[in-house]
Formats: sequence, C-alpha cells, structure tokens
Amino acid sequence: MRRSRKVKILATLGPASSSEEMIRKLFEAGADVFRINMSHTDHALMRTLVGRIRAVETALGRPIGILADLQGPKLRVGKFTEGKVALKAGQAFTLDDNPALGDTTRVHLPHPEILTSVEAGDRLLIDDGRLELKAVSSDGKSIVSTVVAGNKISDKKGVSLPDTDLPVGALTEKDRADLDAVLSTGVDWVALSFIQRPEDLAEARKIARGRALLMSKIEKPQAVARLAEIIELSDAVMVARGDLGVEMPLEAVPGIQKQITRACRRAGKPVVVATQMLESMISAPVPTRAEVSDVATAVFEGADAIMLSAESAAGEYPVQAVATMNRIAERVEQDPTYAGIINAQRSEPEATGADAISLAARQIAETLKLSAIVTYTASGTTGLRAARERPQVPIVALSPVVETARRLSLVWGTHCVVTPDAIDLDDMVDRACRIAYAETFAGTGDRVIITAGVPLRTPGATNMLRIAYVGADGHGV
Ligand code: PGA
Ligand code: MN
Repeated sequence: MRRSRKVKILATLGPASSSEEMIRKLFEAGADVFRINMSHTDHALMRTLVGRIRAVETALGRPIGILADLQGPKLRVGKFTEGKVALKAGQAFTLDDNPALGDTTRVHLPHPEILTSVEAGDRLLIDDGRLELKAVSSDGKSIVSTVVAGNKISDKKGVSLPDTDLPVGALTEKDRADLDAVLSTGVDWVALSFIQRPEDLAEARKIARGRALLMSKIEKPQAVARLAEIIELSDAVMVARGDLGVEMPLEAVPGIQKQITRACRRAGKPVVVATQMLESMISAPVPTRAEVSDVATAVFEGADAIMLSAESAAGEYPVQAVATMNRIAERVEQDPTYAGIINAQRSEPEATGADAISLAARQIAETLKLSAIVTYTASGTTGLRAARERPQVPIVALSPVVETARRLSLVWGTHCVVTPDAIDLDDMVDRACRIAYAETFAGTGDRVIITAGVPLRTPGATNMLRIAYVGADGHGV
C-alpha cells in the first residue's frame, strides 16, 4: 500500500468517523494521520480511538500517525438567565467576576486573568467574531465595553482577545490531564492550541519527555509575531486558519499561510494547513471550486500535510472528503507547473552532513532519473532533512523504530517502512532495494540512491551515498 502523492492528508476523527471500519475506510481513501480533538473527546473515547487506529495499522501493515490536539486556553463567557440575549450596536455591555446569570447589561467572565489584562481600546470577539465588543474601561473585576457589531450572545460562547497579551500559559488544568492521558496511551504528535510565545512550549516539552513530538498551532497574532522562535522550538507547525481568521483580518490569512509554510520549509519542520479546506463537503458530496483551489494552493506551497476537520469528524461525507483531497493532491502534483513552483521555494542546505547528503541524493536522483531515495533513519532526523529537499522522486525511509515511522507519516514525500538495522553494507544495499521493490517504488532494472550512516547502527551519522541497481526479485546489486 503506497500513496501516489507527496503531500500528506490529516483527517480529524469524530462522531462521523469513530468506528474501526470507518477509520480503515478513511485510511484507504488517503488519510495518513488521524487527529483526535481533545476539546470534544474524553479519555475513554480517546483510548478507544487510538486502539482502533492501531488495529487498522496492524491489519494493513502501514504505520499511521496519531495527533492529539489539546484544547488550550479557550476562553468562554458564563451563562444567561434566558440562555441568550441580543445586543445592539452602540449599547454598553459589562463582563465581570460575578457568577450570577447574565442579561442584556452584563455576563460572567470566569477568567480573572482576562479581567486584569484587558485595557481600554482592546477588542473582545465573541463567538468567532460574530459579536464584537470594544473595552471602554476595566478595573480588574469588570470590563465595561461598547458593542461595535450587534448580534446574539448565548451561554458559554468563546471569547477571542486579539489585542491583549494574556498572562496565561499554553496549558490549562484540562490540558495537563489530557496530555498525561494521551502520552500514556502512546500518540505520536501533540498539538498545542493558542500558544502566544516560544516559552509556551516549555511545559509540554518537559512533560512529554520525548514520548511525543510537539506541533504548535499558529492561531493568534502574538504567535505570528514570534513565528521564527516558535518554529525553532517546535517539531511541527499548524496554520490554524479557523481561529487565526477570527483573531486577525481574514484577508491577512492567505499571506500569513505563505509566510508560515515558507519558514517551516526553510527550517525543515513539518507544516500542516488546516480548517475549512473542503468545508462545504460537511453536507455535500462535492466541494466548491474555490475549496478545490484552496487545497491546491497548499499543495503548490509544498505544505507537508493538508487537514480535514468537521468534514471527516462530523460531516455526511467523510470518506468522499478524504478521497477528494487525495484526488486534488495527486492531480496538482502531476501538473507541469508543480515542480517549478516547489523548486522556487527551495532553501540552501545547512552545513551538516545530513543536509549535504540529502542535497546530493536529490541531485543525483534527479540527474540520473533514479526511482527513489532510500534513507536509513533511526530517529527520523535524516528523513526530515531528505524531505526538506522536496525531491521529485519518492523518499523511502527505513527505520527500526516504529515510533519514527509513525511520526514520519506526517512528512512530505516520505514513505516509511519499519525494518531492522542492516547488518553489513551488502545487507544495507539489498534491504533498501528489496523494500523499494516490494513497496512498488522501483522495478527490476531500476536504480535507487541510498543514504546511510557508516559505521552502521550509529544514529546521527548520515555520511554515505550509494547508487544501487534493483535486480531480479528486487535484490540489490
Ligand atoms: P481547532 O484548530 O479546529 O482546534 O480550532 C484549528 C483552527 O483553529 O484552525
Ligand atoms: Mn483553533
């Protein structure tokens, strides 16, 4: 089982896609990594989903990545006597520390840290920006605001504060409990929501102790402002356009998406483009033309992965949504303009053995029209650097570590196979050729290029390139 595309597909699981049968269908349609959204999933269900994904992995014999997405400091208003009220533009409205039910003049805001940080002039966006308030004054216990754009407000609606630097870390009490649970269940990636600064990664990093890699969701202007430092400290990044489009002007999001994907490609960190990619497929079997173009744009940018949210989690056509993404990606990558557009954003190698070897492997593979780059990678680092080159040929990553294979399932162009370390150089060549052959990346008479570290079994020492012929039955010569 192999994909005929480089970009990966991330599908969010939810009520529409929780059964093992459905997870299998989504994988077969093209999903490479599954996202479990901890905002909507309790620990028991999370464990069940992980178990089902692992069962599909075993049944199909391919490593599958699992991303657990932590809710983060999502701020919400309290409740109203009538469940909701309508607010008119120009009226005053107060948010305060009084837990009593709200009315048309006030509501509880159960976050003392917001009450003390909001300053006059700051915007408060309620319910994804459907209601906009502007703070007039704040005394630490209450914020008096003016309604800028009128609308309804109901119980527990979310509050976004694009203008306020919040003195909150990225992990709430719920996140800490969720993080413990997902780490002990054995997920591959953990996404951190609403991070504002590089320091926000530190606590999760310490708790994770290498058990999972960390993905920073860029969904606040404060995070965009410190993008380079956040990328540096992250293992991967998500362009979280849903909340980003609430906290920043919608028209700023496409340019920011390009800035983030370029910066991540330069750093060699996987980057995911997320949210509303095929939104209309929540309730229709075909997407809009604009959505197809949006998916195509992310593929042309060389993003590592494109993501489905409600389309696969709660929509009526989860399998069709994955299949549609798969079809768009395959077609875009075959377009005559694709290679040139990808190449235009290629970065210079850094001065390391892994980068120099990866660059050389790509050039040799493209010059000699080889069938694949086969890279031995224990930790996944060399696999990531090979992918950073965005070669035209597929990358077959060989690792003895199943966790590495699962993590690399998120990474552009990388088909990972779990296999024991080679015993000697002959075995290294033979194993690489046999696997490339068995996984249909090379046929008899084709050539591949192999990268590895010699002496064998010393991690972090990629220093060798070898061109090999695939002989009869896939054996290497
Ligand atoms: P969410 O994150 O789906 O968890 O909100 C993605 C986004 O905001 O785009
Ligand atoms: Mn979000």
